[in-house]
Amino acid sequence: MSKPLLQVRDLSVVYGRRNAATHALSTVDLDVAVGGRLAVIGESGSGKTTLALALARLLPPEAVVEGSIAWPGLDRSPVGGRDIGYVFQDPGSSLNPVLTIGEQVSEGARRHLGLSRGAAKKRALELLERVRIPDPEAALRAYPHQFSGGQRQRIAIAAAIAANPLVLIADEPTSALDMVVQAGIVRLLDRLVRDEGMSLILITHDIALASGLADAIAVFRDGRLVETGPTPQLLSRPANAYTRMLINSHIDFTSPRLIEAG
Ligand code: ADP
Ligand code: MG
Repeated sequence: MSKPLLQVRDLSVVYGRRNAATHALSTVDLDVAVGGRLAVIGESGSGKTTLALALARLLPPEAVVEGSIAWPGLDRSPVGGRDIGYVFQDPGSSLNPVLTIGEQVSEGARRHLGLSRGAAKKRALELLERVRIPDPEAALRAYPHQFSGGQRQRIAIAAAIAANPLVLIADEPTSALDMVVQAGIVRLLDRLVRDEGMSLILITHDIALASGLADAIAVFRDGRLVETGPTPQLLSRPANAYTRMLINSHIDFTSPRLIEAG
């Protein structure tokens, strides 16, 4: 077996003080393969975002972390923004309203790849093309409010991959968008991680989305990892009653492929 990209061992995260503490994650063990696509699923409050933030080292100061997150293939500490790209649920929270799209998309390339202003602009143009923003040249000079929600999420994704990260972490990247727009973002993520050879950690409460995009699924409940495994096995032969319940409750909305597998 080759080394995993990420190795989470005995990870626990508690928010707040002893007498008012929330145990957001408890003793989680999880691996992410190099080039792997892991979907993290579970209902609201199950600890998905906490896991994503912990992996990206973006947890707020009130979070108390125990356990370890190792990067076995990397001979140095990972750098957020360079090794880890992060896409938030709401593109409004990752894009700054008073900076141009060009400034924001080229920022990662300038900071982490050491590109000059001119080279970073070229990189931004190329990234906006990759995420299919119409008229990327004009988009460079525009501001976030001039774009639709779906386009803003595309721009946020372009900014997240600007420094060629090893892994892209996307926390419910489509749940603030309407259905038709969601499908386009899913296709975009699929294409980008394939073309760039990135790993993907997709946080979602949508098991159909997880099954379409990920090769492995981890199911969380109340801060604990309930079950994890390759997508086809987990969907066709879930070991855990909670996973079975999640699959059954989504069966009406899912693809024929998933229904056959179940
Ligand atoms: P999910 O993304 O699956 O909805 P979260 O990781 O956001 O779950 O939250 C897990 C638990 O931690 C929830 O009970 C939530 O209320 C709590 N929590 C999340 N962030 C904080 C915070 N900054 N301070 C206190 N509690 C938090
Ligand atoms: Mg969340």
